[in-house]
Amino acid sequence: MSVFGAIEAGGTKFVCGVGTGPDDLVTASFPTSAPDVTVEAIGRFLERQAGAGLDAVGIGSFGPVDLDPASATFGYITSTPKLEWQHFNLAGAVGRMLGVPVGFDTDVNAAALGEARWGAGREIRDFLYLTVGTGIGGGAMAHGELLHGLVHPEMGHIPIPHDRAADPYRGGCPYHGDCLEGLASGPAMEARWGIPAQELPADHPGWALEAHYLALGLATWVCTLSPRRIILGGGVMQQPALFPLVRRELAHTLNGYIRAAELSENIDLYVVPPQLGNRSGVLGALVLAEQAHRNSRARIAANAVVEE
Ligand code: ADP
Ligand code: ZN
Repeated sequence: MSVFGAIEAGGTKFVCGVGTGPDDLVTASFPTSAPDVTVEAIGRFLERQAGAGLDAVGIGSFGPVDLDPASATFGYITSTPKLEWQHFNLAGAVGRMLGVPVGFDTDVNAAALGEARWGAGREIRDFLYLTVGTGIGGGAMAHGELLHGLVHPEMGHIPIPHDRAADPYRGGCPYHGDCLEGLASGPAMEARWGIPAQELPADHPGWALEAHYLALGLATWVCTLSPRRIILGGGVMQQPALFPLVRRELAHTLNGYIRAAELSENIDLYVVPPQLGNRSGVLGALVLAEQAHRNSRARIAANAVVEE
């Protein structure tokens, strides 16, 4: 049986695991320090945990990342504000250290893949996974495949109508100021209200404003991607009061134009939390490892046919 390793690479910590799925995945977490120190630590953990040897590793990474297999910098983290990690060849470093094929994608695409296999995206070929945490990012599953395109989706950075009289906070995105991430990430809430989001009481007006911004983002993707479900994960979504507010705001924003029970009487099943909790990303990385293993075997088989 094949043995796969999984890495969820985050800006503050790396979560790694070895196993075959939610029931047997053994995980450990390492702080994000200097790239070579971090890669060394996760590599040693994965090797030790795998015992007889790994067959492939999957990485879901913070980004932006280069996902174009034809590019000279495929597998690199590109323009991150974390200076040490800028232009770091993460997939290459992990592949070299462990000597195995590496599957590589964004953290949110990996989370979407995890939820597709074992969670709230099972049997749903078109859905969206969004994280609302330190940043905001989304992964889209379309016809059962992750959407990549030119680079990869950057859903957190869409422009959002911003009433500066009602909300004078200018927004915290270093590139755009008041894009969705700039207005509605965890750090944006903290900058606006002066206390961390987890300390805002459930009846604080900050939650209605947060739901308003998130619903504007969701309405954009409902209209552009037509997902059959939207899974909302990340630290900020831990506030239980937020889900009902977001659902109500989304229905209000769409105003009955898109006729679907999913967006009216069944909206509780449409905007949902991840079923894999905070393990969607690392479990999705396991699926990326499986895919890398399958692709590398297909390549070996194709070469054998050519040589015959
Ligand atoms: P990351 O995005 O770095 O992977 P998280 O998804 O945990 O990490 O997001 C961290 C953000 O979530 C922080 O800004 C924090 O204030 C916020 N957060 C964490 N827990 C809660 C909570 N229970 N309620 C609201 N916000 C929270
Ligand atoms: Zn932005």
